[in-house]
Amino acid sequence: MERVYLDNNATTRVAQEVLDAMLPWFRERWGNPSSLYPLGEASADAMRAARSELARLVGGTPEEVVFTSGASESIATAFESARRRGGDRVRFVTSAVEHSAVTAQVEACAASGAETVVAGVDHEGRLDRDAVLSAIDGRTALVSLILANNETGVVSDLGEIAAACKAADAWLHVDAVQAPGKLPLDVSELGADLLSLSAHKFHGPKGVGALWARRDLPLAGLVLGGPQEREVRAGTENVPGIVGAGVAARLAREHALDTAALDRLTGMRDRLETGILERIPGARVHGAGAPRVPNTTNIGFSGDLDAITLLALLAASGVDASAGSACHADRSGPSPVLLAMGCSEGEAAGSLRLSLSRDTTGEDVERAIGAVSEAIETLRALA
Ligand code: PLP
Repeated sequence: MERVYLDNNATTRVAQEVLDAMLPWFRERWGNPSSLYPLGEASADAMRAARSELARLVGGTPEEVVFTSGASESIATAFESARRRGGDRVRFVTSAVEHSAVTAQVEACAASGAETVVAGVDHEGRLDRDAVLSAIDGRTALVSLILANNETGVVSDLGEIAAACKAADAWLHVDAVQAPGKLPLDVSELGADLLSLSAHKFHGPKGVGALWARRDLPLAGLVLGGPQEREVRAGTENVPGIVGAGVAARLAREHALDTAALDRLTGMRDRLETGILERIPGARVHGAGAPRVPNTTNIGFSGDLDAITLLALLAASGVDASAGSACHADRSGPSPVLLAMGCSEGEAAGSLRLSLSRDTTGEDVERAIGAVSEAIETLRALA
């Protein structure tokens, strides 16, 4: 029997259309996009098309898109650029529910003497907007916030914060990694100055990402050398990956506008939640009271359950999921995101993240409900 894959916030399966578009760029059209003969020009044209698709995905212009190796690099570039602002701009503002790619940058800023402010969230994962707003002034270099949380799916409304950033000329970086295909994205509406994406989170290939940056914003490169990517990121480009990212971006944009597809996803996520809550006394959904993307659920179980054992039982019954973010899967310890939401250490350490995609079927959902219920019953019987 095929496995049930419910870890789409960790990574997604490359769409067939994406793979088909990528393949010719390995052996048939392998030119360097900087070369001035037809093989190279074909690669440059393909990159131009992909850049346009990424720009359309976020409502920006192609000149504003820098291809990277993934969101971690996009985020690092955003922070490095903000660190170089200099002068009085010494404050970096973020939240307690960010991905480690952001948290580590904020910690590095603090270690090098910058001022850092980490705003909390309430028990549903809703951002303490006032804490962010009160940290925005002429000393703020960067505000970096997650749009759709990778662990809970909670979506933040950044409108007021964006307006405050604009007024103070503080840059707003949006970690939009979990949004494509689930939310329509528009950098003007968001009021973002910088926005990070990773193609593998929306059925594109791994190792390709993008940083969208407002046109007039001075970016600092991490990789020096050739003049590629606005002289921000040197090195011969990953043409097949970038082509794949372009097609994945088009598919994600279409999916986020397809209300029937989103309703189907929401319906499956809701069925998964009610199915599990009905069968497991004491289970609860983290962030259920906040706006959420339609594909993610994070469920806590009463009693001190060990999520690693729970995941092993699920894997043995053919269901792949994760506890908190995938990056924490090999580390024990409670999720900092759930702790920030006020969960006890025991509850945070025993929570399960199930994330669906457009490939998920109703049958997957029913199998997952059965497997999760049985695994919890087994764990409780053992305890
Ligand atoms: N930001 C969020 C919200 C994520 O979920 C992830 C990946 O899990 C990242 C950033 C980092 O993306 P990547 O691992 O592709 O660099």
